[in-house]
Amino acid sequence: MANPLTSSLPYLVAPGPARSVAVLTEDVLGAIAERVGGAGPCSKADLVREMGLPRSTVTAHVDWLLNRGVLTHVAGEHQLKRGRPAESVALNGGAGWILAVEMGALKTTVAVVDLAGAILARRKVSLPVSQDPKTCLAKLAVLLEELAVEAAEVSGHAVPRANWVASIALPARIDLQTRRPLRPTIMPTWDGYPVGEAIESALGCPALLENDCSVRALGEVGYLGPDSLPLISIQIGTGVGAGIIDSSGLIIRGANGAAGDVGHIPYSKGGDALCSCGARGCIEAVASVSAMIAKIERAGITCADDTLRGSDRLLSLVEQGGPDVTQVIRESAEAIGEVVASLCNVLNPRRVVITSALATVSHELLAGVRSVVYARARPLATKDLVIDYSQLGDSMGIAGAYLLGRRFLLSSSNIKRLRVAA
Ligand SMILES: [Zn+2]
Repeated sequence: MANPLTSSLPYLVAPGPARSVAVLTEDVLGAIAERVGGAGPCSKADLVREMGLPRSTVTAHVDWLLNRGVLTHVAGEHQLKRGRPAESVALNGGAGWILAVEMGALKTTVAVVDLAGAILARRKVSLPVSQDPKTCLAKLAVLLEELAVEAAEVSGHAVPRANWVASIALPARIDLQTRRPLRPTIMPTWDGYPVGEAIESALGCPALLENDCSVRALGEVGYLGPDSLPLISIQIGTGVGAGIIDSSGLIIRGANGAAGDVGHIPYSKGGDALCSCGARGCIEAVASVSAMIAKIERAGITCADDTLRGSDRLLSLVEQGGPDVTQVIRESAEAIGEVVASLCNVLNPRRVVITSALATVSHELLAGVRSVVYARARPLATKDLVIDYSQLGDSMGIAGAYLLGRRFLLSSSNIKRLRVAA
């Protein structure tokens, strides 16, 4: 699938209920800045019309944001009226940096994204997440510092650390109160480790922590827009997990942050396949990347490059093709389809997004999931349902981490702290 992102994120709408804009000045400032960030350059007249605010209110708040450097004037052909372009404003990329991190069991993607969504520096690395979190997070902090230097060179100026936020997606359920991972099966030594505090003290900026599947789902919603809600994103990687975004654009986490842990739902044909959680017959034990690799290799197909791991190894095996490979993908699709059908009956999503490395090489997985879901879910639950691979692909996680970070920087509690040197 072609990746629609190159060097810059598109205008992403941060999903979520409309903020109250009538009570506090900070709320109005944040709402206007977020609206500009989601829509791209717009005029004060656009904001008056679309936000239902008095013109004097919009003018006062936009002027404050311009003076503070959060917004900037942009030249352009926006809304030509009587031959004169209306004065448009956009987010000033230099007003803040989001240090976006998508941590995986095998690969971690890190990026410095400016407030307006331009990716200034990006790297994909292997971090030792199976080791102790202290060592891993120390390496991550060093990497982020290096990327910040690179971002300053690319953009021509450094952003003060007070205007940074680290936004981290982890392959774990998260206790948002303490910002600690909860019993992650892929990285058990991280259970209860104070990841948020560790990154904050290493970088000297606020750190946000969120489950990776939820972050990816948020990124996809930001790209597709509110018409895609409610949305469920199913990640088929080292583990199998789901991110669920409700009709208001909010992440469904459940009472203890455990919502979306679909990989450990028992599969009707799971048999005695041993899962990373210790149980047998879980969806993950049948449909994850490592489960597919094991089944293909048991069929006698060998990987040309034995150093490959995870999705790279699976792709190498799948490229060899053959009926055994197709059968393994179909079995995985059937297991995922079974759990998606149940989710559709319970949550009635508008869109289900399948995220898998196989998206670039095979439609077998998607076709298999679709056929099981349409056969097993109730007709009303699939009436307007779209099941597709992710549109953002590899960039889902960074897009979602950027949105979380932007929402924090522009929040009513933070926006007055943003100050851009003249
Ligand atoms: Zn399990």
